[in-house]
Amino acid sequence: MPPGTEVTPRPERLPEPHRVPGASTRSRRGRGLFRAILPLLALGTAVFFAGRAAFTGRAAAASKLQVVTTIETLAALAAEVGGPRIDVQSLSRGYQDPHFVPAKPSLILTLNRADALVYVGLDLESGWLPPLVQQSRNPRIQAGQPGNINGSTAIRVEDIPSVPADQLRALGDVHPLGNPHYWLPPDNARALADLMATRFSELDPGGAGTYQARAQAFDAKLAAKATEWRARAAQLRGRKVVTYHKSWGYLTRWLGLDEVGYIEPKPGIPPTAFHTGELIKLMKQAGVHLILMENYYPRSLADIIARDTGARVLALPANVGAVPGARTYFDLVDGIVNAIVEAAGPAPPSPLPRPAAQPSAPPGPGGPAAKPAGPP
Ligand SMILES: [Zn+2]
Repeated sequence: MPPGTEVTPRPERLPEPHRVPGASTRSRRGRGLFRAILPLLALGTAVFFAGRAAFTGRAAAASKLQVVTTIETLAALAAEVGGPRIDVQSLSRGYQDPHFVPAKPSLILTLNRADALVYVGLDLESGWLPPLVQQSRNPRIQAGQPGNINGSTAIRVEDIPSVPADQLRALGDVHPLGNPHYWLPPDNARALADLMATRFSELDPGGAGTYQARAQAFDAKLAAKATEWRARAAQLRGRKVVTYHKSWGYLTRWLGLDEVGYIEPKPGIPPTAFHTGELIKLMKQAGVHLILMENYYPRSLADIIARDTGARVLALPANVGAVPGARTYFDLVDGIVNAIVEAAGPAPPSPLPRPAAQPSAPPGPGGPAAKPAGPP
């Protein structure tokens, strides 16, 4: 039998990475046995299948487009676009810090089977993803291939440093190319969905109509939800916040919150006593009553700062899957907006008139208001 017509046997799915509700799933038969022998077989199996994948390609894969994402929010957006035409799973869980995901052998197997890899980019996954992609020996998802989908190419990147990236990396800054935490605001979710619809259509031309129709339906729902979120969050405009990691900027700009400081001195650099003291002074002077942080960071220091300043700590899910109720993109943003509105409380009785502090921010991603419906 010539290699091109050979049928490649596929191992059973592993308990990890996480499979996404909404997209289709495969049989769990035999999972227990496979789990039991996984520690011994995983690497050898990865190499075995990797070698075959180079010439079997998608023709031998399941008929559904096999999509792998690095974070669960991207998997949820892929499921919105792909629906029953794709199998999608995420390499990390929503409650994990996406900068630091353990590079397990099972992730190599998952990548080996992928037709498409959707990732955040901007160095968010640079500490763990590149060696896994390389070891997967899957030509379809290598850089420059149609199946390699970098989400950051679809959005307007914020917080781009003026210092060369290599210098920042050497200092331990984990955002050397700009802020990679961009997936929450509706404009960026729309851009990601549209990017996936385009790229999935290239990879699976027979599904192009489905992908485009589903992306349009997602856009329409998103427009309605964005109006609702904007109204609910109107009282937040101009309220001052401090965040743990510099990861909420896209969201705070969208909601009109005023971000005045960070518990980390630089993105990824652990807090120091000096920096904490300065931050407490700043928070007292500026009247900051809210600290936002991802729920995967330890909150002990934030609690200490809160006690000293009278602020409230809000440990939020930053991704789908970070808390049990966040199963979709809409669940996630609903929960975040509601939590901030509730924690911030009513607007102060006599706020200082806010000068045009954000002059003529252009419409679009990161602007003060979400765009009306429609592709960017
Ligand atoms: Zn970060």
